[in-house]
Amino acid sequence: MAAFYRKDCELFNIPVMSSTSKPLTVFFDRDGTLNQDVGYLDSAEDLIVFPGVPEALARLNEAGGVVVLVTNQSGVARGLILEDNLARIHEALQQSIQAAGGCIAGWYICPHHPNEGCACRKPKNRLVKQAVAELNLDLTHSYVVGDKDSDMQLAYNIGAVGVLVTTSSHSDKALTYVSSGVLSRSYVASGVPEAVEWILADARRHMSEPCLNES
Ligand SMILES: [Zn+2]
Repeated sequence: MAAFYRKDCELFNIPVMSSTSKPLTVFFDRDGTLNQDVGYLDSAEDLIVFPGVPEALARLNEAGGVVVLVTNQSGVARGLILEDNLARIHEALQQSIQAAGGCIAGWYICPHHPNEGCACRKPKNRLVKQAVAELNLDLTHSYVVGDKDSDMQLAYNIGAVGVLVTTSSHSDKALTYVSSGVLSRSYVASGVPEAVEWILADARRHMSEPCLNES
């Protein structure tokens, strides 16, 4: 499952692609990272976006960063989440981000049950591969932001920097994974706003050629 919103972003005149050959790419988890993890969220009315998240994503876009969402939604396979409702939730999330001047360039969703053994459920990398092909991404300067160990393992699997946010009850297990030193580079942030500030500073340090727009 993938929804493709890049054209929506361009309609809003929001830069979703860097003009340089090595853009900054940030993959975000959804539940527990961008919004409160209420467990199999099935209604846009129950979507609670964490404070400062839309503005933080807008800052990434302003700096030439591409924002991509990668989420496991096994509630679809479990019959707990209707696909129509999932689309409404993503529309509501996109609207709150666009109201702050940001835009999610692509939405990549694994709807399968863990027992199905699909190739797209995080920490597997198929959804990222799909995003790279469809959005013409470059993973040279890429980050994965999430609250679970599966997010940090995804970072490892795609060679990205892992940024753990401690905004959910799942963060402890992920903290153990990050602390084990498997990832060559990682950071632990209190939430997405701090994660984004660190990513922008880190990207400026690591990009050998001028890549980020002045903001
Ligand atoms: Zn899947």
